[in-house]
Amino acid sequence: MLKIVHLVSGGIITNYKCSSKCRHCSYSSSPKWPDEYMTPSMADEIFSVLKRLGCYSVHIGGGEPLLKHDKILAVLEAAQRNNIGIEYIETNSSWYKDETSVMAVLKELKKHGVHTLLISIDPYHNEYIPFWKVKALIRACSKTGMNVFPWLMEFWDDIDTMDDRKPHSMDEYIQLYGRDYLLQLYKRYGLNLKGRALKTYKPMMKEQPFEQILKESKPCKLLSGIYHFHVDLYGNFVPQSCPGFSIPLRELMQGADPNKYRIFYSLESAGIGGFAELAMKEYGYKPKARYAGKCDLCYDMRNYLVLELGLDLPDLKPEGHYKYL
Ligand code: SF4
Repeated sequence: MLKIVHLVSGGIITNYKCSSKCRHCSYSSSPKWPDEYMTPSMADEIFSVLKRLGCYSVHIGGGEPLLKHDKILAVLEAAQRNNIGIEYIETNSSWYKDETSVMAVLKELKKHGVHTLLISIDPYHNEYIPFWKVKALIRACSKTGMNVFPWLMEFWDDIDTMDDRKPHSMDEYIQLYGRDYLLQLYKRYGLNLKGRALKTYKPMMKEQPFEQILKESKPCKLLSGIYHFHVDLYGNFVPQSCPGFSIPLRELMQGADPNKYRIFYSLESAGIGGFAELAMKEYGYKPKARYAGKCDLCYDMRNYLVLELGLDLPDLKPEGHYKYL
């Protein structure tokens, strides 16, 4: 059985839709995703299950969770009903319009038990969001007594050298800071190379022969991330560091059937070798000679199953993760 008996701390993904399509996003969020948001009844269900599993606080992420203020307030009310604390909400500041309206939102969030915003500060977001919005949101937080968790101050000076009234492309950053800037960013940020981040950095990664990847195969332990898991708006458990896989949280609590979630189970128990065997034998996957590591192979097989064969596989969800890459 695939089972979770204990969770400590994680996040909920209220929506995958985002105002930006950042090249480092491991969730493949973008404006193209359907306009779907976690409902209050789903939030109630998730929070009550989390409590039973020993998790009493969460952060909120997306997508951009503050795209729809009324929707987030309903989720926060569900958290309060279930005595679940909110550690912080992640935001990219794109929703900032003017100080009066933003301060009203911040005050409302505080009333609903939110005391910290994690505000994205990095050149990836700056390709879409002018830096003046980030600065103005930080100022509004300070005026309303909302704490700011800046992610990451390390990039402040890089961004602030540019004109803050408009966004700046990666090409502009490369012109200013040098040809290897994109690669340096990966190291400085400590990126998780999955989803769109893998697509961005794949051309810079060292390739390995297919056979060698299989030889080094070890279980991926998708269920062991009990400190930084996510549960999305559909009630699915999203393993730490590996989006694009999911199993309904309520099933995992009771013990999910490995025969229903065969891909997830093959990776959890045997690793990439188990998944490759399944993909080749059962779905006719034809491997290439080389890949940029095991996760590149994993994505190539998942893309083949979801996008090329169009299969509706319960563990390779949401499909948007593959479609909107
Ligand atoms: S091989 Fe697949 S499941 Fe394992 S870590 Fe990489 S992306 Fe995640």
